[in-house]
Amino acid sequence: MSINFKDYVASVPDFPEVGVTFRDISPLMSDGEAYAAATDEIVAYAKDRGVEMIVGPEARGFIVGCPVAYKLGVGFAPARKKGKLPRPTVSASYGLEYGQSTLYMHKDAVKPGQRVLVTDDLLATGGTIAATIKMVEELGGIVVGTAFLIELNDLNGREKIKDYDIFKLMDY
Ligand code: 5GP
Repeated sequence: MSINFKDYVASVPDFPEVGVTFRDISPLMSDGEAYAAATDEIVAYAKDRGVEMIVGPEARGFIVGCPVAYKLGVGFAPARKKGKLPRPTVSASYGLEYGQSTLYMHKDAVKPGQRVLVTDDLLATGGTIAATIKMVEELGGIVVGTAFLIELNDLNGREKIKDYDIFKLMDY
């Protein structure tokens, strides 16, 4: 029996602010069968694209990417917020609704020429994933795909990453 992944997403109205519906993936993560099934789908996609390395932004990009890396037997590198990484970094900034945010990666996180899959839980405006892709490319990695549990269609994040292949399990 195939899993309906949307059964494992809690839609929370007015979080984190009035008018926004937050798509909470915690129920999916806390169900072993659903989490494994979601991971397996991304693993199959990654195999098709010859992925050699996974990169994911803090913090839910780790939840999606790490089990995929483990299953493929490839490495995982985190993109993190300011002040978290102890060694020399590259960085990329992106716009938020108010102000901006910056992500960082260790300079040796990706090897030149490595085929990289970038993962996150959700694609909204695309700022987070575009910043992560920019750093991977600055390090010489080849972004061969992006994978999400959820895409929010109305925010049109795919426009920001239109040069890249997108895999997602669900959309709203
Ligand atoms: P973007 O940069 O594409 O606008 O926002 C995506 C980032 O914000 C992701 O890292 C994601 O974790 C987080 N995010 C934004 N909205 C939601 C949401 O409704 N549910 C979840 N789970 N994450 C969200």
